[in-house]
Amino acid sequence: MKLHPWLRAAAAQLSGAREAGRLPPALLVHEAPGTGARQLAVLFAQLRFCSGDRPPCGQCSHCRRVEQGEHPDFIIVEPDTEKSRLGQISVTQAREIGQQLALSSYEGRGTVLVIQPADAMNRNAANALLKTLEEPRPDAHLLLLTSMPSQLPATIRSRCQKLTVPAPDRAAVLEWLATERPQHRNDWPRVLDVLGVAPLAALEADVGRILAIREDIERVLEGAAQGRLDVIRVAHGWAGEDLPLRLAGLENCLTDRILTMRAGSRLPGAGRDINMASALRLLAELGELRRQLAEAALNRPLAVERQLWRLQGA
Ligand SMILES: [Zn+2]
Repeated sequence: MKLHPWLRAAAAQLSGAREAGRLPPALLVHEAPGTGARQLAVLFAQLRFCSGDRPPCGQCSHCRRVEQGEHPDFIIVEPDTEKSRLGQISVTQAREIGQQLALSSYEGRGTVLVIQPADAMNRNAANALLKTLEEPRPDAHLLLLTSMPSQLPATIRSRCQKLTVPAPDRAAVLEWLATERPQHRNDWPRVLDVLGVAPLAALEADVGRILAIREDIERVLEGAAQGRLDVIRVAHGWAGEDLPLRLAGLENCLTDRILTMRAGSRLPGAGRDINMASALRLLAELGELRRQLAEAALNRPLAVERQLWRLQGA
Protein backbone atom coordinates (compact mmCIF):
# COMPACT_ATOMS: atom_id res chain seq x y z
CA MET A 1 0.00 0.00 0.00
CA LYS A 2 1.35 3.39 -0.96
CA LEU A 3 0.58 5.45 2.12
CA HIS A 4 -0.56 9.03 1.48
CA PRO A 5 2.32 11.24 2.66
CA TRP A 6 0.18 13.28 5.09
CA LEU A 7 -0.82 10.09 6.94
CA ARG A 8 2.75 9.18 7.88
CA ALA A 9 2.72 10.71 11.36
CA ALA A 10 -0.52 8.96 12.30
CA ALA A 11 0.74 5.70 10.79
CA ALA A 12 3.91 5.94 12.88
CA GLN A 13 1.78 6.27 16.01
CA LEU A 14 -0.09 3.08 15.12
CA SER A 15 3.14 1.19 14.44
CA GLY A 16 4.51 2.41 17.76
CA ALA A 17 1.37 1.22 19.55
CA ARG A 18 1.72 -2.22 18.00
CA GLU A 19 5.38 -2.51 18.98
CA ALA A 20 4.40 -1.65 22.53
CA GLY A 21 1.67 -4.31 22.35
CA ARG A 22 -0.98 -1.63 22.79
CA LEU A 23 -3.22 -1.48 19.76
CA PRO A 24 -6.31 0.09 21.33
CA PRO A 25 -9.60 -1.84 21.55
CA ALA A 26 -11.48 1.28 20.44
CA LEU A 27 -9.93 4.02 18.33
CA LEU A 28 -11.52 7.24 17.13
CA VAL A 29 -9.74 8.53 14.03
CA HIS A 30 -10.53 12.22 13.60
CA GLU A 31 -9.55 12.99 10.04
CA ALA A 32 -9.60 16.33 8.29
CA PRO A 33 -12.13 15.97 5.43
CA GLY A 34 -10.94 14.19 2.32
CA THR A 35 -7.63 12.93 3.70
CA GLY A 36 -8.29 9.24 2.98
CA ALA A 37 -7.79 8.01 6.52
CA ARG A 38 -9.23 4.65 5.56
CA GLN A 39 -5.64 3.74 4.74
CA LEU A 40 -4.99 3.93 8.48
CA ALA A 41 -7.69 1.33 9.07
CA VAL A 42 -6.03 -0.95 6.51
CA LEU A 43 -2.69 -0.39 8.20
CA PHE A 44 -4.21 -1.09 11.61
CA ALA A 45 -5.61 -4.43 10.43
CA GLN A 46 -2.31 -5.36 8.78
CA LEU A 47 -0.43 -4.54 11.97
CA ARG A 48 -2.86 -6.74 13.88
CA PHE A 49 -2.95 -9.74 11.54
CA CYS A 50 0.44 -9.77 9.76
CA SER A 51 2.37 -13.05 9.99
CA GLY A 52 5.61 -11.63 8.55
CA ASP A 53 8.75 -10.70 10.48
CA ARG A 54 8.21 -6.95 10.42
CA PRO A 55 4.53 -6.11 10.47
CA PRO A 56 3.10 -4.91 8.27
CA CYS A 57 5.20 -6.84 5.75
CA GLY A 58 2.71 -6.15 2.96
CA GLN A 59 3.53 -9.58 1.47
CA CYS A 60 1.92 -12.22 3.67
CA SER A 61 -1.54 -13.56 2.95
CA HIS A 62 -3.06 -11.47 5.77
CA CYS A 63 -1.53 -8.19 4.60
CA ARG A 64 -2.56 -8.79 1.00
CA ARG A 65 -6.12 -9.83 1.77
CA VAL A 66 -6.63 -6.88 4.11
CA GLU A 67 -5.52 -4.49 1.38
CA GLN A 68 -7.76 -6.17 -1.18
CA GLY A 69 -10.73 -6.07 1.18
CA GLU A 70 -10.90 -9.87 1.26
CA HIS A 71 -9.93 -10.66 4.84
CA PRO A 72 -12.89 -12.10 6.78
CA ASP A 73 -11.76 -10.49 10.05
CA PHE A 74 -11.38 -7.00 8.58
CA ILE A 75 -14.89 -5.60 8.39
CA ILE A 76 -15.94 -2.18 7.14
CA VAL A 77 -19.40 -0.87 7.97
CA GLU A 78 -20.75 1.99 5.87
CA PRO A 79 -24.19 3.60 5.49
CA ASP A 80 -26.63 1.30 3.77
CA THR A 81 -27.58 3.60 0.90
CA GLU A 82 -30.37 1.34 -0.29
CA LYS A 83 -32.19 1.32 3.01
CA SER A 84 -31.31 4.77 4.30
CA ARG A 85 -32.02 7.70 2.04
CA LEU A 86 -30.18 9.99 4.44
CA GLY A 87 -27.05 7.88 4.35
CA GLN A 88 -27.30 6.83 7.97
CA ILE A 89 -25.89 3.79 9.69
CA SER A 90 -28.92 2.09 11.19
CA VAL A 91 -29.57 0.46 14.52
CA THR A 92 -29.86 -2.88 12.67
CA GLN A 93 -26.33 -2.42 11.36
CA ALA A 94 -25.09 -1.46 14.82
CA ARG A 95 -26.65 -4.61 16.30
CA GLU A 96 -24.99 -6.70 13.60
CA ILE A 97 -21.68 -5.13 14.61
CA GLY A 98 -22.34 -6.24 18.18
CA GLN A 99 -23.08 -9.78 16.98
CA GLN A 100 -19.96 -9.89 14.80
CA LEU A 101 -17.83 -8.84 17.73
CA ALA A 102 -19.47 -11.32 20.09
CA LEU A 103 -18.32 -14.23 17.91
CA SER A 104 -14.71 -15.31 17.77
CA SER A 105 -12.61 -14.31 14.78
CA TYR A 106 -12.46 -16.53 11.69
CA GLU A 107 -8.71 -16.88 11.53
CA GLY A 108 -7.79 -16.61 15.19
CA ARG A 109 -5.91 -13.31 14.92
CA GLY A 110 -8.64 -11.05 16.19
CA THR A 111 -11.15 -8.82 14.45
CA VAL A 112 -10.81 -5.25 13.18
CA LEU A 113 -14.14 -3.58 12.55
CA VAL A 114 -14.29 -0.13 10.98
CA ILE A 115 -17.25 2.26 10.97
CA GLN A 116 -16.99 4.98 8.35
CA PRO A 117 -18.19 7.63 8.64
CA ALA A 118 -18.93 7.04 12.31
CA ASP A 119 -20.96 10.27 12.46
CA ALA A 120 -23.48 8.58 10.13
CA MET A 121 -24.74 6.49 13.04
CA ASN A 122 -28.13 7.69 14.15
CA ARG A 123 -28.88 7.99 17.85
CA ASN A 124 -30.29 4.47 18.21
CA ALA A 125 -27.33 2.99 16.37
CA ALA A 126 -24.92 4.85 18.64
CA ASN A 127 -26.73 3.54 21.73
CA ALA A 128 -26.58 -0.01 20.41
CA LEU A 129 -22.87 0.40 19.71
CA LEU A 130 -22.26 1.69 23.20
CA LYS A 131 -23.23 -1.70 24.63
CA THR A 132 -20.56 -3.32 22.44
CA LEU A 133 -17.97 -0.81 23.61
CA GLU A 134 -18.79 -1.51 27.24
CA GLU A 135 -18.04 -5.23 26.97
CA PRO A 136 -15.32 -5.58 24.35
CA ARG A 137 -14.01 -8.96 23.25
CA PRO A 138 -10.31 -8.95 24.19
CA ASP A 139 -9.02 -9.51 20.64
CA ALA A 140 -11.49 -7.21 18.88
CA HIS A 141 -10.76 -3.68 17.73
CA LEU A 142 -13.31 -1.09 16.77
CA LEU A 143 -12.22 1.86 14.62
CA LEU A 144 -14.46 4.88 14.23
CA LEU A 145 -13.50 7.13 11.32
CA THR A 146 -15.00 10.60 11.20
CA SER A 147 -14.27 14.19 10.29
CA MET A 148 -17.04 15.36 12.65
CA PRO A 149 -16.38 13.74 16.04
CA SER A 150 -18.62 16.26 17.79
CA GLN A 151 -21.56 14.51 16.09
CA LEU A 152 -20.84 11.39 18.15
CA PRO A 153 -22.26 11.01 21.67
CA ALA A 154 -19.77 11.93 24.39
CA THR A 155 -20.33 8.49 25.93
CA ILE A 156 -18.85 6.89 22.82
CA ARG A 157 -16.01 9.38 22.39
CA SER A 158 -14.91 8.92 25.98
CA ARG A 159 -14.45 5.18 25.46
CA CYS A 160 -12.10 5.58 22.50
CA GLN A 161 -8.47 6.46 22.16
CA LYS A 162 -8.02 9.36 19.73
CA LEU A 163 -5.88 9.63 16.65
CA THR A 164 -5.92 12.91 14.74
CA VAL A 165 -5.15 13.46 11.07
CA PRO A 166 -4.88 17.23 10.59
CA ALA A 167 -5.47 18.90 7.23
CA PRO A 168 -2.20 18.64 5.34
CA ASP A 169 -0.18 21.61 4.20
CA ARG A 170 -1.77 23.26 1.15
CA ALA A 171 1.49 23.57 -0.79
CA ALA A 172 2.31 19.91 -0.20
CA VAL A 173 -1.15 18.86 -1.36
CA LEU A 174 -0.86 20.99 -4.52
CA GLU A 175 2.43 19.30 -5.27
CA TRP A 176 0.96 15.85 -4.67
CA LEU A 177 -2.07 16.56 -6.87
CA ALA A 178 0.16 17.90 -9.64
CA THR A 179 2.06 14.61 -9.58
CA GLU A 180 -1.07 12.47 -9.49
CA ARG A 181 -2.97 14.35 -12.20
CA PRO A 182 -0.55 16.71 -13.95
CA GLN A 183 -3.05 17.66 -16.65
CA HIS A 184 -4.89 19.76 -14.03
CA ARG A 185 -1.76 21.34 -12.57
CA ASN A 186 -3.10 24.87 -13.07
CA ASP A 187 -6.58 24.03 -11.81
CA TRP A 188 -5.73 22.52 -8.43
CA PRO A 189 -5.45 25.81 -6.48
CA ARG A 190 -9.00 26.77 -7.47
CA VAL A 191 -10.28 23.25 -6.79
CA LEU A 192 -8.89 23.48 -3.25
CA ASP A 193 -10.54 26.90 -2.86
CA VAL A 194 -13.86 25.08 -3.10
CA LEU A 195 -13.08 21.74 -1.44
CA GLY A 196 -10.68 22.97 1.21
CA VAL A 197 -7.33 21.21 1.62
CA ALA A 198 -8.92 17.81 1.01
CA PRO A 199 -6.51 15.92 -1.27
CA LEU A 200 -8.52 12.75 -1.85
CA ALA A 201 -11.74 14.64 -2.45
CA ALA A 202 -9.86 16.81 -4.98
CA LEU A 203 -8.32 13.83 -6.73
CA GLU A 204 -11.69 12.15 -7.15
CA ALA A 205 -13.54 15.32 -8.10
CA ASP A 206 -14.96 16.27 -11.47
CA VAL A 207 -12.60 19.19 -11.98
CA GLY A 208 -14.70 20.96 -14.61
CA ARG A 209 -17.73 20.93 -12.35
CA ILE A 210 -15.76 22.22 -9.35
CA LEU A 211 -14.28 25.07 -11.41
CA ALA A 212 -17.77 26.07 -12.56
CA ILE A 213 -18.92 26.11 -8.92
CA ARG A 214 -15.87 28.19 -8.00
CA GLU A 215 -16.86 30.80 -10.61
CA ASP A 216 -20.44 30.83 -9.32
CA ILE A 217 -19.25 31.40 -5.76
CA GLU A 218 -16.98 34.20 -6.88
CA ARG A 219 -19.90 35.86 -8.67
CA VAL A 220 -22.08 35.53 -5.58
CA LEU A 221 -19.40 37.02 -3.31
CA GLU A 222 -18.81 39.92 -5.70
CA GLY A 223 -22.54 40.49 -6.16
CA ALA A 224 -23.05 40.47 -2.40
CA ALA A 225 -20.15 42.87 -1.83
CA GLN A 226 -21.70 45.31 -4.27
CA GLY A 227 -25.21 44.82 -2.90
CA ARG A 228 -26.62 43.72 -6.25
CA LEU A 229 -27.20 40.02 -5.66
CA ASP A 230 -30.39 38.55 -7.13
CA VAL A 231 -30.94 36.47 -4.01
CA ILE A 232 -34.06 34.57 -5.02
CA ARG A 233 -32.76 33.58 -8.44
CA VAL A 234 -29.42 32.41 -7.04
CA ALA A 235 -31.09 30.52 -4.18
CA HIS A 236 -33.22 28.52 -6.58
CA GLY A 237 -30.27 27.90 -8.87
CA TRP A 238 -28.23 26.62 -5.93
CA ALA A 239 -30.85 24.42 -4.32
CA GLY A 240 -30.12 21.33 -6.44
CA GLU A 241 -27.91 18.36 -5.78
CA ASP A 242 -24.69 20.41 -5.68
CA LEU A 243 -25.95 22.43 -2.73
CA PRO A 244 -23.80 20.86 0.04
CA LEU A 245 -20.74 21.28 -2.16
CA ARG A 246 -21.62 24.88 -2.99
CA LEU A 247 -22.18 25.76 0.65
CA ALA A 248 -18.91 24.11 1.65
CA GLY A 249 -17.21 26.01 -1.17
CA LEU A 250 -18.75 29.28 -0.04
CA GLU A 251 -17.55 28.57 3.49
CA ASN A 252 -14.02 27.85 2.27
CA CYS A 253 -13.84 30.90 -0.01
CA LEU A 254 -15.24 33.15 2.71
CA THR A 255 -12.74 31.74 5.21
CA ASP A 256 -9.91 32.48 2.77
CA ARG A 257 -11.09 36.07 2.47
CA ILE A 258 -11.28 36.51 6.21
CA LEU A 259 -7.78 35.09 6.65
CA THR A 260 -6.45 37.32 3.88
CA MET A 261 -8.00 40.37 5.51
CA ARG A 262 -6.58 39.38 8.88
CA ALA A 263 -3.14 39.07 7.36
CA GLY A 264 -3.55 42.64 6.17
CA SER A 265 -3.06 41.78 2.53
CA ARG A 266 -5.68 41.90 -0.16
CA LEU A 267 -6.26 39.57 -3.03
CA PRO A 268 -5.76 41.21 -6.38
CA GLY A 269 -9.15 42.16 -7.72
CA ALA A 270 -10.93 41.47 -4.43
CA GLY A 271 -14.05 43.49 -3.79
CA ARG A 272 -14.47 45.88 -0.92
CA ASP A 273 -13.61 44.64 2.54
CA ILE A 274 -16.31 42.56 4.13
CA ASN A 275 -17.52 43.22 7.61
CA MET A 276 -15.51 40.80 9.72
CA ALA A 277 -18.10 40.20 12.44
CA SER A 278 -20.96 39.48 10.05
CA ALA A 279 -18.73 37.33 7.88
CA LEU A 280 -17.78 35.19 10.87
CA ARG A 281 -21.41 34.91 11.92
CA LEU A 282 -22.35 33.92 8.39
CA LEU A 283 -19.66 31.25 8.39
CA ALA A 284 -21.07 29.69 11.54
CA GLU A 285 -24.56 29.75 10.04
CA LEU A 286 -23.40 28.15 6.82
CA GLY A 287 -21.87 25.32 8.83
CA GLU A 288 -25.12 24.85 10.72
CA LEU A 289 -27.12 24.83 7.48
CA ARG A 290 -24.88 22.13 6.05
CA ARG A 291 -25.43 19.99 9.12
CA GLN A 292 -29.18 20.45 8.82
CA LEU A 293 -29.05 19.48 5.16
CA ALA A 294 -27.30 16.26 6.06
CA GLU A 295 -29.93 15.41 8.62
CA ALA A 296 -33.30 16.15 7.17
CA ALA A 297 -35.38 17.30 4.29
CA LEU A 298 -35.33 21.06 4.34
CA ASN A 299 -36.92 23.77 2.25
CA ARG A 300 -33.69 24.27 0.38
CA PRO A 301 -34.41 27.39 -1.69
CA LEU A 302 -35.75 29.13 1.39
CA ALA A 303 -32.79 28.16 3.57
CA VAL A 304 -30.28 29.26 0.93
CA GLU A 305 -32.16 32.46 0.34
CA ARG A 306 -31.89 33.33 4.01
CA GLN A 307 -28.11 32.84 3.96
CA LEU A 308 -27.69 34.88 0.79
CA TRP A 309 -29.61 37.80 2.27
CA ARG A 310 -27.23 37.72 5.20
CA LEU A 311 -24.25 37.58 2.87
CA GLN A 312 -25.59 40.61 1.04
CA GLY A 313 -25.89 42.43 4.34
CA ALA A 314 -22.38 41.43 5.48
ZN1 LIG B 1 2.20 -9.23 6.54
